[in-house]
Amino acid sequence: MRHNKLIPKAGIDIDKLDPPLESAEGYWVQRKDFEGRKSFGVFQCAQCSRRWYSAHAFKEYKQGCQRCDRYYLPIAMWVNTGDRDSDDDDNGFGDDEKDDAGPHDSERCEACKAGVCKAGGFAIY
Ligand SMILES: [Zn+2]
Ligand SMILES: [Zn+2]
Repeated sequence: MRHNKLIPKAGIDIDKLDPPLESAEGYWVQRKDFEGRKSFGVFQCAQCSRRWYSAHAFKEYKQGCQRCDRYYLPIAMWVNTGDRDSDDDDNGFGDDEKDDAGPHDSERCEACKAGVCKAGGFAIY
């Protein structure tokens, strides 16, 4: 049985999540403990248990499950402790770097729809 840092609702032990990139230095925190605005994030669908990673997770914006079209806030977000410079709102990873999470699903990204997600096809920045 797992105890520490279990996120009750999602049933995920964030210490056991893989880093978003192999070379990433940092750690996962629960969404409520994340002090930035955007980073890598982990989402999980309560309906079908599908879990996905996004390099474009925003603390205040939801992403949708590709199967169920239900929308969720990230359950965990990545705090980068590597020595890369990070720009204002970013996690220190370039937006166009290798993305193990697969292509960004702008269709199901509320931040894209709000125009704040740089990955989005119709982001204005
Ligand atoms: Zn789902
Ligand atoms: Zn987006």
